[in-house]
Amino acid sequence: MGGVVISLDAELGWGFHDLPEPPAERVESGRRGWHSMLELLEEFDVPATWAVVGHLMLEDCDGTHADHPAPEGWFERERTDWTDREDLRFGPDLVSGVLESDTDHELASHSFSHVLFGRPETDRELAVAELERCREIAADWEQSIDSFIYPRNDIGHRDVLAEHGITAYRGRSPTRDGVRGVFDSTIRDRSMLVEPTVDEHGLVNVPASMFLFGFEGRARTVAESIWEDPMVVLARRGIDEAARTDGLFHMWLHPNNLTHERDDRRMRAILSHLERKRTATDLTVETMADVARRTAEPAAASEQATVSWS
Ligand SMILES: [Zn+2]
Ligand SMILES: [Zn+2]
Repeated sequence: MGGVVISLDAELGWGFHDLPEPPAERVESGRRGWHSMLELLEEFDVPATWAVVGHLMLEDCDGTHADHPAPEGWFERERTDWTDREDLRFGPDLVSGVLESDTDHELASHSFSHVLFGRPETDRELAVAELERCREIAADWEQSIDSFIYPRNDIGHRDVLAEHGITAYRGRSPTRDGVRGVFDSTIRDRSMLVEPTVDEHGLVNVPASMFLFGFEGRARTVAESIWEDPMVVLARRGIDEAARTDGLFHMWLHPNNLTHERDDRRMRAILSHLERKRTATDLTVETMADVARRTAEPAAASEQATVSWS
């Protein structure tokens, strides 16, 4: 039985707050894209893993976060350019939308303040603080967090995740993003399926197959005017491959990638294909937590068997 996972890095301003020049179009599309994705996923009844930046679940803050061991100036944008931009810093309304949806989404974590976990400057204390804060906020919301998506896919401090009750994270894609990925997958006919594995901390790595918005700008415009949207072609291919085999196809994106109607059309085309395949075959749509559960179970079961036999 094949599976498809869709994961979203949901961050509003937090995905860009550390950049000297945040890309205005993406920043301003966060709320638009969030609403569009929620509506589309609900229309096709496709559950997704929503990895939300913890800060978005707050109602307000003092803009200093003095007790947070982040580097000097980490929260500065909250006190300067974005002081009056609560819409970029907070999103409890949007998170409620995910939780109240008729579609059974997974609420996951994208850290508290989009700290890059793989950077040498990110010490253990900072990683722990980010995880602890997320756990506290989730508890305030009466939620628990199983899955974690690393900001900018920068993997690090996996032991800290495991210690904080996380069971799954999204690993890097074996397929290259953008034009090169299209080349590998179509011309070189590489598989886009991925294999979840259990790491030394007991975490399940659910690797990404493909970033749905890695083929943008002029190349996209030219390709679309000649052929179909190449990302739709690739996604359909991955979905079909998962349906045909018992493999896993994992697509990911940010809500803020949906900057224009043509991006909504891309997602609609992919989701409607997924919906058709799911109806016609025994393909299932899973969340990262679902995948972690079925991947870790056989391992736990065989461990138990070993214990009882010894
Ligand atoms: Zn704040
Ligand atoms: Zn992010």
